[in-house]
Amino acid sequence: MQLDARIPAGPLAEKWDNHRFELPLVAPPNRRKFEVIVVGTGLAGAGAAATLGELGYNVKVFTYNDSNRRAHSISAQGGINAAKDYRNEGDSIHRLFYDTIKGGDYRAREANVYRLAQVSNEIIDQATAQGVPFAREYGGMLANRSFGGTQVARTFYARGQTGQQLLLGAYQALARQIKLGTVTSYTRTEMLDVVIVDGRAVGIVVRDMVTGEVSSHSAHAVVLATGGYSNAYFLSTNAKACNVTAIWRAHRKGAMFANPCFTQIHPTCIPASDEFQSKLTLMSESLRNDGRIWVPANEGEARHPRDIPEDQRDYFLERRYPAFGNLVPRDVASRAAKREVDAGKGVGALHNGVYLDFADAFARLGKDVVTERYGNLFEMYERITGENPYEMPMRIYPAPHYTMG
Ligand SMILES: Cc1cc2nc3c(=O)[nH]c(=O)nc-3n(C[C@H](O)[C@H](O)[C@H](O)COP(=O)(O)OP(=O)(O)OC[C@H]3O[C@@H](n4cnc5c(N)ncnc54)[C@H](O)[C@@H]3O)c2cc1C
Repeated sequence: MQLDARIPAGPLAEKWDNHRFELPLVAPPNRRKFEVIVVGTGLAGAGAAATLGELGYNVKVFTYNDSNRRAHSISAQGGINAAKDYRNEGDSIHRLFYDTIKGGDYRAREANVYRLAQVSNEIIDQATAQGVPFAREYGGMLANRSFGGTQVARTFYARGQTGQQLLLGAYQALARQIKLGTVTSYTRTEMLDVVIVDGRAVGIVVRDMVTGEVSSHSAHAVVLATGGYSNAYFLSTNAKACNVTAIWRAHRKGAMFANPCFTQIHPTCIPASDEFQSKLTLMSESLRNDGRIWVPANEGEARHPRDIPEDQRDYFLERRYPAFGNLVPRDVASRAAKREVDAGKGVGALHNGVYLDFADAFARLGKDVVTERYGNLFEMYERITGENPYEMPMRIYPAPHYTMG
């Protein structure tokens, strides 16, 4: 089996621009002659369907959710990176490219990562135009914070609900096209199979999840935007409804699937509260901007965290990675936390987590500022664990999160 990523030729920074220029264009009056099926209405699917509809293609969009705006993208929290360099920190397309390649252990496809960095700024512009209420500075500029693996603040966010706000923006754009008649929407409709003719996907078979009726739909192009597969692992941040059915069915029909192990393990999830729990709730990456991660220096420590003196704590990320501190890339933070738990320094009743502590942030910024930044996450944490993060550190543990195979 030969895997061909079909990366265009030419210098790195020009590959995809050249490719785009070389693609044959379809003139506006001809577009309505083409049908496109999009499966999935997350940020990928809703964005693609709305854009194709706006361009004038005939689009059918399918989701098994009861509403297009219930895709799992709604759960994304911390924000989205772009190299706008509003803060004059020396950020650039090249630096975002470099950080992403480095954060991916130099194993990602360079041309595609470069493209991601190139279009990052346009994505922020598009989302803003769709009405996404990104956080703003007092003067009106879009605000930024940091994600792991970077030394600049380039994350655009809407409190701890960025995915929800982005999806509402994409949904609005999609709803507009549905109203205009360019997109037909099929909710509560599950894709059962992909129809292949001469090696090309030309349609899908679906089941109406209310009536059970099975029907088939043909198209000139089929876009599968059906989300990730991290529920294939025992622990996962994904909701149970993310059942990986569409990718699996396409794979069974011959779609190639490489490197399933390219799965990101997110360091800041709420640890399992019993040995059977597999869905872990994510606590946003953004918390590592102000929270400090530590474990007791001694194995089997039984004291309340506030009673453990500074010199008996191990801020293991700050100690091992002083340049990035608590904002090391996610896989680095995850591996380090697991190592501490495996070494018997885990905290909580099941000794299966590490502390994420905001005491310093409260002292430095005041409770109001911290609440403004992370209040909804603190509330969610307290509802799930029964512990108040204003009074004791949060507990976190890594879990498989998003997937890149
Ligand atoms: C808790 C959490 C927090 C996150 N935080 C961030 C963040 O801060 N920043 C960031 O950049 N990323 C974040 N991510 C990752 C990001 O949210 C996802 O990578 C992205 O939203 C995936 O979008 P998607 O459109 O590909 O998939 P999804 O939003 O999962 O949408 C999949 C769609 O496919 C449909 N579908 C699937 N199978 C079928 C089928 N068989 N038939 C019909 N329809 C089907 C579903 O109904 C759904 O509409 C987070 C992820 C999680 C889980």
